[in-house]
Amino acid sequence: MRTLTLLGATGSIGASTLDVVARHPDRFRIAALAANKDWEKLAALCRTHRPHYAAMQDSAAAHALAQALAADGLATRVLNGPAGLAFVASLPEVDTVLAAIVGAAGLPPTLAAARAGKRILLANKEALVIGGELFMRAVEEGGAVLLPIDSEHNAIHQCLPPNYDRVPGRAGVRRLLLTASGGPFRTRALADLPHVTPDEACAHPNWRMGRKISVDSATMMNKGLEVIEAHWLFGVPAAAIKVVIHPQSVIHSLVEYIDGSVLAELGHPDMRTPIAQALALPDRIESGVPPLELAKLAGLAFEEPDATRFPALLLAYEALAAGGTAPAILNAANEVAVAAFLDRVIRFTDIAAVCADTLARVPVRPSASFDDALAADGEARRVATGLLRRPADSAKMAS
Ligand code: NAD
Ligand code: MG
Repeated sequence: MRTLTLLGATGSIGASTLDVVARHPDRFRIAALAANKDWEKLAALCRTHRPHYAAMQDSAAAHALAQALAADGLATRVLNGPAGLAFVASLPEVDTVLAAIVGAAGLPPTLAAARAGKRILLANKEALVIGGELFMRAVEEGGAVLLPIDSEHNAIHQCLPPNYDRVPGRAGVRRLLLTASGGPFRTRALADLPHVTPDEACAHPNWRMGRKISVDSATMMNKGLEVIEAHWLFGVPAAAIKVVIHPQSVIHSLVEYIDGSVLAELGHPDMRTPIAQALALPDRIESGVPPLELAKLAGLAFEEPDATRFPALLLAYEALAAGGTAPAILNAANEVAVAAFLDRVIRFTDIAAVCADTLARVPVRPSASFDDALAADGEARRVATGLLRRPADSAKMAS
C-alpha cells in the first residue's frame, strides 16, 4: 500500500491523479490533499477521499474548509500557509508526494518532500527550473527518489535503461528528443498572434490542462522549461536535447542512442498514463486510458520549431546556457507575463518580449543556495511587473 500526499489536488493533474488512485483502492491511500484557495472543491475531494490532512495555502480558505468539514463530521485536520503545505509534504506516514502545484509556489513544499526522503512524482517543472542543481542535490541528500510525470520526461524515463544515472558515459545516449505539439497557434498567421485571446491560447488541440501551462504550450515556453527540466533530471547537456514538433502528441518523446537506435513511448495524450506508470513503478496498472489503435491514426508528422513563431523556446536555451540564476529569472518573468496575458493586460506576443527584457535587465548571479534562486525570482517579478505598464489595446483585446 502506498500512502500519498497530493499537492495541487484541485488542478488538472490533481484530477487525473485522483482518477487513477480511485481505480486502485488496494494499492493507494490518500493521506493529505493540498491546494491554493478553492476550498469548496477541496472540501468535495475530502468527502470522497477522506484524507487525514488537508492544507490550503490561503488562510481564509483553510478556515472555511475547516468549518465545512467539521459541519460534515469529517475528522480531516486542516492546515494552512507554507508551513502547512511543507508539513503535509513531509508526513512520516507518507511515502509518495505528488508535486502538482503550478509555478514557483510549488518549490517549497516539493523541497520539503525531497528533504524528507519521499518518492516525488514531479509535475511541477517550475520547481526544477528555479532550483536546478540545488533541487537535485536536495533529492540526493534527502535520500528522495524523483520520478517525472511530465509526459515527455516520463517517456524518456521509460526509454532509458534502468539505473541510467549510475551507468558511466550516459549509457550510450546520444540525444534526447522532446516532442512538442506546437500548441493552438502552430499554423496561425503570424500577423494574428498579437490579437489572439486567452481562451484561444488555452484551447490546446490535444491536452486538457490548467491555464498557465496551456499558455506556455501556445508560446512553447513550456517546451523551453522542459528542456531545462530534462537537463537536470537526466544530466544531459542542452546541446544534446532537441525539440521536434509532432502535432499529434502520440509520441511523447524519444531517446536516441549512439548505435542509431531511437526508442519512443507512444500513447494517447492523457496524463493518467505517466501518472499511473510512476505511481505503480515497477508494476504496471490500469489507468483508464484506452488502447492506442495504430491503424486508426491518420499519420504521425514531425517538423522543426520555427524560431520566429516561438521565440520563448530560444530564451530557455539561452537561460540554460547562461546558468546560475538565469532560469529562475526566466521562469519568474514568464509567470508574471502569462498572468498578465490571462488578465488581458498584455498581448500574447508580449509574453516572450517581457521575458527577454527581464532576462536582459536582471543580472545573472551564481545560484549557490535557494536564497539566491528565490532572490532572483523576486527581482525578476518586480522587473517584469514594471515592464507590463503599457496601455492595453482594448479594441484589439476584446474577445
Ligand atoms: P492547474 O492550474 O489545473 O492546477 C494547479 C494546482 O496548483 C491547483 O490545485 C491549485 O490550487 C494549486 N496552486 C496554485 N497556486 C498555488 C499556491 N500558491 N499554493 C498552493 N497551491 C497552489 O495546473 P495543472 O495543469 O494541474 O498543472 C500543475 C503543474 O503540473 C504545473 O507545474 C504544470 O506545468 C505541470 N504539468 C501539467 C500537465 C497537465 O496536463 N495539466 C502536464 C505536465 C506538467
Ligand atoms: Mg510536458
